[in-house]
Amino acid sequence: MAVEASPGSGSIFGADDIVLPFHVEPLDTRGRAIRLGRVLNEIMARHAYPPAVERLLAEAIALTALMGSSLKFDGRFQLQTKTDGPVSLLVVDLGTPSSLRAYARFDAERVTAAGERADAATLLGHGYLGFTVEQSAFQSRYQGIVALEGQGLEAAAMQYFRQSEQIPTALRIAVAEHQQAGGQRQWRVGGVLAQFLPAAPERMRQADLDPGDAPAGTIRHVVPEDDAWIEARALVETTEDIELVDPGLGLDRLLYRLFNERGVSVSEPIRMEDQCRCSEARIRETLTQFPDSDLAEMREEDGAIAVTCEFCSRRYRLAL
Ligand SMILES: [Zn+2]
Repeated sequence: MAVEASPGSGSIFGADDIVLPFHVEPLDTRGRAIRLGRVLNEIMARHAYPPAVERLLAEAIALTALMGSSLKFDGRFQLQTKTDGPVSLLVVDLGTPSSLRAYARFDAERVTAAGERADAATLLGHGYLGFTVEQSAFQSRYQGIVALEGQGLEAAAMQYFRQSEQIPTALRIAVAEHQQAGGQRQWRVGGVLAQFLPAAPERMRQADLDPGDAPAGTIRHVVPEDDAWIEARALVETTEDIELVDPGLGLDRLLYRLFNERGVSVSEPIRMEDQCRCSEARIRETLTQFPDSDLAEMREEDGAIAVTCEFCSRRYRLAL
């Protein structure tokens, strides 16, 4: 189903916790927009992370949902960072089409020292950002990696699209927090990912990245970008943070505001869910791969093994 986005709202297209695919045909641009509210807060409630870690994780969850929701097969999409900063590990996992789960590992003292408003680049530091795609039916696995060198998640993801997928991509994500009476924090995240996918691949040419510290005299490879993409990219990049997270501005209205001069159509929204895939059977299967000596160390006095799922914090006690 595809309908023209209109200035009206109040429909499911304007609701929270959805990914809304869109198409701007005259600009050969397709993409997805996201809003997460309740689902995001449910995921956060499974952990007790400091606010700075929650903010970073919210951004990673939105990025994962924007990227993973394009998969048309049964499988999963996983984002993982491994870095030397105060937050050493982020894992966000999307089971197609819409199950989200996430966790972070961090050094509490270093996170406190970085401050509550520390940005993603500071919290992550240096290391890598990896994306894994698994297709269940073929047990196939694809992994793409991009270096994190202090540029944060959004910029690293853009580099990934440029280098690995070679698709011109524009991406904007904004995280907002709302402190309720009693001090409880509520998070919202919004984002837009747009890609230039013309029928003629030669239109997808992209200028080289700036050579940076290349030797003096190095000639930069200058390639003119396609006019349609220049326009679409500019529209996405100039989206204000407040527009991305404004509860009064539905996603359909946001897309209309961005692209109404060209005409934008939206498809059936994908409803996101806070859902872990852990189960006693899966944990049992994992444990049987451990050597007996390791299992012996994990046993409690009564011989049972206690395991806590890192994604959802659910506790299991198994007799093996
Ligand atoms: Zn779990």
